[in-house]
Amino acid sequence: MAQPADGFRTRGQPAAVAAARAMLRGGMPHALLLTGPTGAGKSTLANDIAAALLCRDPDPARHPCRECRSCRALEHDNHPDLHRLGTTGAGAVIPIGGPGREERGVRDLVRELSLLPVEGGARVAIISAADRMTEDAQAAFLKTLEEPPAGTVLILTASDEERLLETIRSRCVRIRLGPVPRRDVEALLVDEGLADAPLAARLARLSGGRPGDAIALARAPASLVIRGEVGRTLLDLIVATRSDRLRVGRDLLSRTAEMTAGLVQAAQPGQPARTSRGRRGTGPAGDAAPTLAPHEGAADDPDVPGPALRVPAAERRAAALVLVGIWRDVVRDLALVHLGEPGDVRQVDLLDDLEAAAGRVQPTFAATQLGRLDTAGERLEGNVSPELVVDALVLGWVA
Ligand SMILES: [Zn+2]
Repeated sequence: MAQPADGFRTRGQPAAVAAARAMLRGGMPHALLLTGPTGAGKSTLANDIAAALLCRDPDPARHPCRECRSCRALEHDNHPDLHRLGTTGAGAVIPIGGPGREERGVRDLVRELSLLPVEGGARVAIISAADRMTEDAQAAFLKTLEEPPAGTVLILTASDEERLLETIRSRCVRIRLGPVPRRDVEALLVDEGLADAPLAARLARLSGGRPGDAIALARAPASLVIRGEVGRTLLDLIVATRSDRLRVGRDLLSRTAEMTAGLVQAAQPGQPARTSRGRRGTGPAGDAAPTLAPHEGAADDPDVPGPALRVPAAERRAAALVLVGIWRDVVRDLALVHLGEPGDVRQVDLLDDLEAAAGRVQPTFAATQLGRLDTAGERLEGNVSPELVVDALVLGWVA
């Protein structure tokens, strides 16, 4: 894959990047909505666009140069004119926020944007997982979308844009990101020094076109091992007894929580994939003084919770959603083996187990189970207890 001439880091999304570049050249809309599956690269593209808008290099064709003062501030996640808003709390939502409210929300962002830009240039706000804004948060945000502060670009990302009010969607220019071709994910992992060729091939398959997932797994080998174990356990569970099912189900949930914690830790914000190749020069010595971002110590914190029994509700819910995702992959792979197309399975390391299990299940198994997994996903979104959802899944997971 050819390296881009400018400092864009988004990979495997040529159409989306071309659209973003065209806007940077021809005039940026006030609000952008980046849509696509989780892990496809929406955040990376949002950061690329923000960097390009804030870059101070005299040649706009080089934006983002990744070398100027502004680009370096972004690298350390402390640019004063880049504002971020993301999910928070047990429900992993973006709340309305505001004075007197504990959690940062839309009103806090709106207040920040009402002040003048610090650097006097462009200003950017990235609202990650904007589809997780509560309804009152969306209503509060609408006013800003209708009358955005001068010189401000709002970048929203969403994996499920149907959750956004039509009035919000209609005021944004949309850029769609699709799944990234497997070869591109492989090349990305190898180029970034995150995996050798065989591991890159395996991770690229496993990620199903979502480089973010592949990168996270490459950085957290222990999580990759757990993921394989969870898949294998699910296959064994098809023929387990009822009492085993409930016990194993709970165990799967805590194993997935452990895996997710490992992935989150590996993907601490402010730690973009950095390799010697990725950084072009360090600038004049006086200018290059390292700036410690406030969160930079957090990744090494020995007190980061492991697979504790008392995992907070938001993490248990997130873990259950991840488990449902792995489960879907298992069903999908089972269906492929059933159809005699084992070459397309995502979990190649499970091939023997998949073939054994495929001989045991009914032809309608995959369709039935996918329906149940969809329902489970909806119930989790509706804040049903993750344990109850998983119990129901394991009990109905029969050949
Ligand atoms: Zn720059």
